[in-house]
Amino acid sequence: MGEVHDLMSALFRWMLAGIFLVACAVGAQAADKTIFLTFDDGPLPGTKNILSVLSQENVPAAMFMVGLHVETIPAGRELLAEAKAMSLVTIGNHSYSHANNRYRKYYSNTQAVVADMLHANDVLGLKPIVHARLPGRDVFRLPTVSREDLSINVAQWEREWLDYEFVAEAGFYLYGWDFEWVHSDDGKPVQSVDRLVSEIDHLFQYGRFTQRGKMILLMHDEMFQDQFNGQENLQALTRTLRQRGYAFGDIRDYAPSNP
Ligand SMILES: [Zn+2]
Repeated sequence: MGEVHDLMSALFRWMLAGIFLVACAVGAQAADKTIFLTFDDGPLPGTKNILSVLSQENVPAAMFMVGLHVETIPAGRELLAEAKAMSLVTIGNHSYSHANNRYRKYYSNTQAVVADMLHANDVLGLKPIVHARLPGRDVFRLPTVSREDLSINVAQWEREWLDYEFVAEAGFYLYGWDFEWVHSDDGKPVQSVDRLVSEIDHLFQYGRFTQRGKMILLMHDEMFQDQFNGQENLQALTRTLRQRGYAFGDIRDYAPSNP
């Protein structure tokens, strides 16, 4: 048991060193202020509004979709097809089941995690290099896990990191996020657009991102439903950020540091 633990600790340190080196190498040549918009959990009510705004404003985005939603949400397949037809949009894999929102249980079975991700590839029609985000976990937070207040502890992260490795081995680029436009349980955005933009300004002034000068912003499709003025909010966000000198990046140019 001690040997296994030593091995895992050594592996863990080695991976951290690797991430650090890759981040430095990429950071040195990064653009000034680039934001990568990412939307999780679609297709959902709200997805349609997102696609409309991306198209109108000519802004790229990654949409990490859930296989189960494609099959069960009204017009799920049509929304997926519409998004796939847009060159501005990169469809990412966000699992088939979304872990049924029981993450600890989900990540206790590595084989099942990999199988769930591969199943989503089939439903989403993705192959072979697949951009992906794991449900309920921000893989970018691992290096700071000991300093931040997390819902899971370091030991759990170290254990789950092996799952992430196996998923990466199966052909996935894994993305976390640097910052989130938060929403309440019913999907309503918490920060106003102005508030969010001022938070982003501060982070670019003082924050350290996973890659220098590049912020991956997490949002969720459900935040952009009509009842929350989804179109207007997203349009206001993209226009305001552009006015303030931010560029929008395509996730395919982000070059993630895989585990
Ligand atoms: Zn999610």
